[in-house]
Amino acid sequence: MKLIDVTRQFNTDEKCLDYLEAMRWPNGVCCIACGSLKISRITRESKTKNKRTRIYQCLEPECKHQFSPTAGTIFHDSHLSLQKWFMAIALICEAKKGVSACQMQRHLGVNYRTAWHLCHRIRKAMTQDNLILDAPAVEADETYVGSHITRPRFARRKTKKDDVVLGMVERGGGRLKLVPVADTKASILRPVLEKHISEQVATIYTDEHPIYIFALKDKFPGKHETISHKDAYGIGDVHTNTIENAFSLFKRGLYGTFHQVSKKHLARYCDEFSYRFNRRQEQQQLFAETTKNLLSGERLTYDKLTASEVSES
Ligand SMILES: [Zn+2]
Repeated sequence: MKLIDVTRQFNTDEKCLDYLEAMRWPNGVCCIACGSLKISRITRESKTKNKRTRIYQCLEPECKHQFSPTAGTIFHDSHLSLQKWFMAIALICEAKKGVSACQMQRHLGVNYRTAWHLCHRIRKAMTQDNLILDAPAVEADETYVGSHITRPRFARRKTKKDDVVLGMVERGGGRLKLVPVADTKASILRPVLEKHISEQVATIYTDEHPIYIFALKDKFPGKHETISHKDAYGIGDVHTNTIENAFSLFKRGLYGTFHQVSKKHLARYCDEFSYRFNRRQEQQQLFAETTKNLLSGERLTYDKLTASEVSES
């Protein structure tokens, strides 16, 4: 769904509520306390601009619980109108290179802090922790990001300020997984590679870096092929061009849109990028899926975001 469609289709909070409701309760609204389908709808006058006007009451005599369609979800405590939420989701879904908080601030007419928090909460809904790549051919490689943008972008040498991102991709238009890692030691890469690449995979292609030999030998014996970039970019099927292409797209987004990304939030940017990349053929579902994840996901509070250490990986 494109931004223009979202703006047209969801031009009132009421329409946004209808959409969220249908998504949350496909079989009709039920009580969030007892699950009963005997519900009555109360409509009240809106006193302030963004006040939710739709309330349900459970008709079970012992329950009588009152709740709004967004109760218990990320949309509930937000002072932002649902229209702005929907526009923000559409913007992030549509932007191949991502949307910075500054851009979001301008598009929505909200303050920077609100825009920044909003972007991160939407990004959180794009997490794909349990993605397992299982195409016959998978490529893996690492790249360095995060130091000054004045540095030659694709220079391979790692500097002190750099962060390492391990990338894995299915060949033939498949899925991508990007994971920030602390270092390029085999002991650090092994669990990540083993978590995200299925045993079913026939071949894993990497460059000649010896860490991959150690990192892959336990779970994928005999399935590892390497290309020495000193000799050629690729010989027949043996190349890592697919992952290199994904990296260059990722870096263009990272440097072009965000300029700099702190280590703390890098995982979320990696997830956002690969989530969108993996759904590039299904634009229509992207908006719905992201909204659904926001509805059911845990809330990412501003305090948690700005805490000195990230609690999640
Ligand atoms: Zn009830």
